[in-house]
Amino acid sequence: ALRDIQAPVAVALQITAGQGLPRASGLDDALFASDGQITKRPVRALTLSALAPRAGELLWDIGAGSGSISVEWCLAGGRAVAFELRADRAVNIRANAANFGLEHRLTCIEGPAAETLTAHPLPDAVFIGGGGSAALYDQLWQILPAGTRLVANGVTLETESLLAQQHAQHGGSLLRIDLAQSAALGRMRGWEASRPVVQWSVIR
Ligand code: SAH
Repeated sequence: ALRDIQAPVAVALQITAGQGLPRASGLDDALFASDGQITKRPVRALTLSALAPRAGELLWDIGAGSGSISVEWCLAGGRAVAFELRADRAVNIRANAANFGLEHRLTCIEGPAAETLTAHPLPDAVFIGGGGSAALYDQLWQILPAGTRLVANGVTLETESLLAQQHAQHGGSLLRIDLAQSAALGRMRGWEASRPVVQWSVIR
């Protein structure tokens, strides 16, 4: 609800009386405190769609960065644990949780996810946006109960090949998100390609 949302978010959204947050996932990047390491709006919308949040469900957001995925998951009525290696990014995650009025449902855990996640209740869904490795996937596959939804995004060749390998091993689906945005090209406009993102989705 809008009454929960604090000033920075309201200002960035240019909310006027009677308006609230948009209902759809894929909020403006400017609404989130970040150092630029954030899943950009169109890819975030597709990621939330793949994660398919339902009210009351728990998400593990591994390599949470700014926590934007966790925030949007919680806005859909869920709870999230955001695992982030870097202290400076944990600060952003906590700020975003507070700005969206979600502190009661979004917890940030600092440190290497493989070591910290075992201390938490098992989730309904897992998003891996960073820190993925063959060892982490093996660990997740062992501890997650059947039916858990798993979504992973990769932008590097190394992550892409890891995800292709996991897909070969466990099935699910691979989606390549190849987007472009218009940008100035001299006095005209041209398409500026974004780096392709490979998304693996699977149900344990
Ligand atoms: N989805 C995020 C962006 C993720 S960027 C957003 O929308 O903001 C990937 C993040 O994974 C980085 O912040 C990086 O610090 C983190 N990371 C890398 N290895 C990790 C590990 N082993 N444990 C936890 N986080 C890790």
